[in-house]
Amino acid sequence: MGRTRLLALFVASFGGTAALAADWSALERYQQTVSRAEFETLLTEVYCPSGALTNYLTFTTDSVSVFSTAEKKNPPLFALRFSSAASSPVRRSPGESEFKRIALDPGHIGGAWARMEERFFEHGKDRPVQEAELNLMVARLLKTRLEAAGAQVFLTKENFEPVTDKRPEDFQAQSEQEVKASTRFDAFPPLEREAAFADAVRKRAELIFYRSSEIAARAKLLNEKIKPDLTICLHMNAVEWDECHNLVDDNRLVVFVHGNYLASELKDDDQKLRLFEKILERSHPTELAVAEALAAALANATKLPPVEYGPNSGSVHVDDNPYVFARNLAANRLVNGPVVFLEPYYQNNRLVYQRIQLGDYEGLRNVNGTPMKSIFREYADAVAEGLSKLIAR
Ligand SMILES: [Zn+2]
Repeated sequence: MGRTRLLALFVASFGGTAALAADWSALERYQQTVSRAEFETLLTEVYCPSGALTNYLTFTTDSVSVFSTAEKKNPPLFALRFSSAASSPVRRSPGESEFKRIALDPGHIGGAWARMEERFFEHGKDRPVQEAELNLMVARLLKTRLEAAGAQVFLTKENFEPVTDKRPEDFQAQSEQEVKASTRFDAFPPLEREAAFADAVRKRAELIFYRSSEIAARAKLLNEKIKPDLTICLHMNAVEWDECHNLVDDNRLVVFVHGNYLASELKDDDQKLRLFEKILERSHPTELAVAEALAAALANATKLPPVEYGPNSGSVHVDDNPYVFARNLAANRLVNGPVVFLEPYYQNNRLVYQRIQLGDYEGLRNVNGTPMKSIFREYADAVAEGLSKLIAR
C-alpha cells in the first residue's frame, strides 16, 4: 500500500488474549434475540463480508452452530437459536442513540515508552512529536467540551504510564518461544542468527507489552470499571516515511467501526467468540450512527479527503460514507459496546507538522497566511460538535 500504509494500524488483529479467554456460555443470554435474517445481514455486510466465517457454521431453519474447525468434527462451540420475529426488539435505530457515559481512549502510552512504541519522531531541534501526547491533549480538551454538554466523561489514561501492570520483561519467555517457532533466521550463518534472534525476541516482547497487553488492560478497565455507553479511541495518523524522512503533502481522515474479520483471524476461537458477541450485543447500528456523525463533523472542520483502502487492506466500507470503514482492531474488538476509532491528520504532513509545532493555543493564529485554530482544538471541537446531538440530557 506504499505511502498510504498507516502506522497506527499495526494495532490491528493481534490474536486472542488470555485476559478475555473464550467463554461461550456468556452468549446464552442472547438466545432468541436475533432473527436469522438480521444475523446474516450483520455477518455478510459488517462482520465478515469475505464469507470466511461460513466455513465454520452450520445453519438450520431456526439456529446456527459454530465449530472450531472447518471440518466440523468435534461438537460445536456454541449453538444460537434465532428469534422468529422479523426484527429484534433490542435493536435501536440510529436516530435513537443517546449517550450519557462516554469513555475517551487516547491512543498509545507515550513518554518513556514513545520510542519503543514507534510513535515518536523529531526533525532537527524542533519539538519532538509523540502521538500519545497529541492524543492526550485532544482527550483533555474534548472531556471539558463533552462535560459542558452534559455527558459523564472518563479517560482510560491521564498520563504517560502504561495501564497494564506488565512490562516487556514479563513477556521474555513467551517471546522466545514465538520467535523460535518461526523459521525466519534458519538460513542465517550462526553468528548472524544469534544476533537477529536476540533482537527479534526483544522487539517481540516489547510489542506484546505495549500493544496486546496494554490494549487488553484498557479493555478490561472499560468493560469492568468504566462501563461506558460509548468509547471513542483518539489517534492521529501518519504515513510511512520515504528514505530521506521528508514531510509529505498528503493528509487524510478515516473513521473505523468494528468488523471485517479476516479468514486468518477467524482460525482463532477467541476471535469467533468476539464476532458473535459483537453481533449479539448490537453495537453496530449505534456505532455506525456515531461514526457517520463524527466523520461529517471532522471532514467539515478539517476539509481532509478520505483515506482510500485497497481490497486487501483489512478495511471495508459498510455504508456510502467515504470516510467510514469497518476493521477488526484489537482496540474495538476487545471493548464491549459501541467503539468508534478516529484517525484524522497525518502527523508527518507538512502543515500538520507545522501546527503541532505551534502547540495548543486559544483563538486563531496565522499558519501560512490562513487563520487557524490549534490543531488540538480543531479536533476536539469537531468531535464535540459531532456528538452534541447524541448526548442524553
Ligand atoms: Zn495511533
